[in-house]
Amino acid sequence: MAAPAISGLREMRTSRSRCSSAGSAIPISTPSRTSGATPCTPSSPGVVTDVGPGVTKFKAGDTVGVGYFVDSCRSCECCSKGHENYCPQVVHASNGVDLSGATTQGGFSDVVVVRQDYVVRVPESLPLDGAAPLLCAGVTVYAPLTQYGLNETGKHLGVVGLGGLGHMAVKFGKAFGMKVTVISTSPGKRDEALERFSADAFLVSRDPEQMKAAMGTMDGIIDTVSAGHAIVPLLELLKPMGQMVVVGAPSKPLELPAYAIIAGGKRVAGNVVGSIADCQAMLDFAAEHDITADIEVVGMDYVNTAIERLEKNDVRYRFVIDVAGSFGAAA
Ligand SMILES: [Zn+2]
Repeated sequence: MAAPAISGLREMRTSRSRCSSAGSAIPISTPSRTSGATPCTPSSPGVVTDVGPGVTKFKAGDTVGVGYFVDSCRSCECCSKGHENYCPQVVHASNGVDLSGATTQGGFSDVVVVRQDYVVRVPESLPLDGAAPLLCAGVTVYAPLTQYGLNETGKHLGVVGLGGLGHMAVKFGKAFGMKVTVISTSPGKRDEALERFSADAFLVSRDPEQMKAAMGTMDGIIDTVSAGHAIVPLLELLKPMGQMVVVGAPSKPLELPAYAIIAGGKRVAGNVVGSIADCQAMLDFAAEHDITADIEVVGMDYVNTAIERLEKNDVRYRFVIDVAGSFGAAA
């Protein structure tokens, strides 16, 4: 098989997934309690340990990454246009079903075998641990920023929620030269937004006066919140023809009255991760601008505690599991 094998670090996502039981949302990184399948930990940077016949893009020793998916049909319209993340047969890195019918086990495995076309090169200047969440959270916010022209100097970007996805959106927005405003329900996030991540402004979404003062000022909004929330007050922050991109996944439907987008010709889109090309472009941009995720590295023996903390949203801002270190292997 034309596939390099890699070993290294794994990221734990904090966002919610559909692999939930009895109506309670469970972080995607937790074991699926209903199926008993491998826990999901999608993003994996590491080092190529071996290559199969026909591999031309990578060689042993290369630093590479595997993102949220490891294969797709390679023939549908999405695949042929370079949007393989939206292929109907996309094969997720963990708990997916590959084209041979086997369940993928990218989760806590120490070695991943994957086709070279679904592998990205991690620039040497990026540390593996801080790069791990870039392969999922990073590309999830980077791809729509570039796709919708929200990567232009001087434009005003609103980032709703300052978590794993949100802090990456702030970093990319600032690197693009944008004015970045963090919007949060938590006034306590102000110092982190302004000082730790150098956002230009901070809005408390529960403060009607602050929200009113910012109406009609934003070119785009990245909404990263996975808890239920009202989006009409957020849409009011957009300029006419402004673009909102939803990357969080609340379990309850978002309420979108037509008037909120008809007046002003506003647009709402969704996004999940990005294509392989998006992921490579994001990594190259991150290396150029010294962007990594803020992380807490843990060993395999800390996973259960990390899962408990994820359920309480107690992480700044992503857990990364040192799989290779935990198994005593060279990363
Ligand atoms: Zn396809």
